[in-house]
Amino acid sequence: MTTPATADLNIFRESITAETPETVAERARVRDFLADALEQGLMTPACDSWLSGHSPAFSRELGRHGWIGMTWPACYGGRDASTMTRFAVMEELLAAGAPVAAHWFSDRQIGPGLLRHGTEAQRQFFLPALARGDVFFCIGMSEPESGSDLGSIRTRATRTDTGWSITGAKIWTSHADKSQFMLALVRTGVPGQKTTDALTQVIIDMSAPGITVRPIEMLGGRTHFCEVTFDDVHVEDVMVLGAVGNGWRQVLGELGFERSGPERFLSTFPMVDGLTGIGANPARDADVGSLVARLSVLRAMSARISHHLDGPVAPGVAAAVVKDLGTTLENDSIQIARRWLPTLTDAARRVQLSEHLHHAQTHAPGFTLRGGTNEIMRGIIAGALGVS
Ligand SMILES: Cc1cc2nc3c(=O)[nH]c(=O)nc-3n(C[C@H](O)[C@H](O)[C@H](O)COP(=O)(O)OP(=O)(O)OC[C@H]3O[C@@H](n4cnc5c(N)ncnc54)[C@H](O)[C@@H]3O)c2cc1C
Repeated sequence: MTTPATADLNIFRESITAETPETVAERARVRDFLADALEQGLMTPACDSWLSGHSPAFSRELGRHGWIGMTWPACYGGRDASTMTRFAVMEELLAAGAPVAAHWFSDRQIGPGLLRHGTEAQRQFFLPALARGDVFFCIGMSEPESGSDLGSIRTRATRTDTGWSITGAKIWTSHADKSQFMLALVRTGVPGQKTTDALTQVIIDMSAPGITVRPIEMLGGRTHFCEVTFDDVHVEDVMVLGAVGNGWRQVLGELGFERSGPERFLSTFPMVDGLTGIGANPARDADVGSLVARLSVLRAMSARISHHLDGPVAPGVAAAVVKDLGTTLENDSIQIARRWLPTLTDAARRVQLSEHLHHAQTHAPGFTLRGGTNEIMRGIIAGALGVS
């Protein structure tokens, strides 16, 4: 039987043209740019660079080359490029371990959210600045008591004469300490109102009085996500994104963007790449070959979803499959790198692989958590298949 949810999975059966003259040319441009950036010391390749490699200067360079918001209309600072061309650019940046975290959320979901739900004034104000890499957003969904169960969030927006007063707390907010704005999910409904009508998305200026940001130290000693508290923070009416009470539906649409992209299986690619081209070893080749085979399947799946992200229905189930399989692969790649690191005879390669491995390992606990845990992904898939 075909239900809307299983129809979502039929996306994987579609035939698509992944490479076109446009994508091939764009890939070449990005590779040239990255080779120059490496030579000039503008970047140091690293695993998980899409979330932890925060470099406003590098993002601005990408903006100057037209690689942020490239699918957005030209009138908002975009290039009207195809989703496959954007996909090709993302792949190249991720494979190189380039520091793209500063603008990643803007490009992936803030811009598309503004295009879909924003007012004309919001689009004109934010989109060109996002595309230039001048303005960065963080995403405030999770709270101390609400991660998987986002419907239970307690950060409240209360009506005032001139807009809204926000009080509450967000946690695990990536780069809240370095972003000018947050797209926050807040509760606007009255007690007892259905979750689907009780939440709203608001854009919060992170320099507003009443906001406290506390960076949280990660396993490797670095900081990247934060706890953010709001104490009677004023937000003007014009900063509400979409309709009041429509936040739950808007966020569900965003999760398709958030869960299906190549960043969900390429976080450890710089490390995997270090295991290739190092001479024959049948057992190692079998391990690395299995990773490469899985990567190529995930790539095909993710590319198919990207075709649907601008459509009316978010492919949430298909995105959950990619996120679950992709982040599982990322963790498996760490085990394989650990197994084969000692067999590398080239000292320089071994040092580099060891650095990538160290970085990947300290970030790995987040792979299957961020963007929704794998247990939640499997629940979504099971529900769609009617087996939960
Ligand atoms: C590196 C990183 C960056 C992040 N960045 C952001 C960000 O920028 N913005 C933001 O809003 N959030 C961010 N998060 C938060 C992330 O979205 C949450 O950690 C995630 O949604 C899980 O929520 P939680 O941590 O509250 O865990 P919980 O929801 O408390 O879950 C705890 C455990 O219980 C399991 N569980 C919970 N419910 C179920 C269920 N129904 N069925 C089966 N198992 C269940 C979970 O799978 C998990 O193993 C980030 C997280 C990480 C690790």
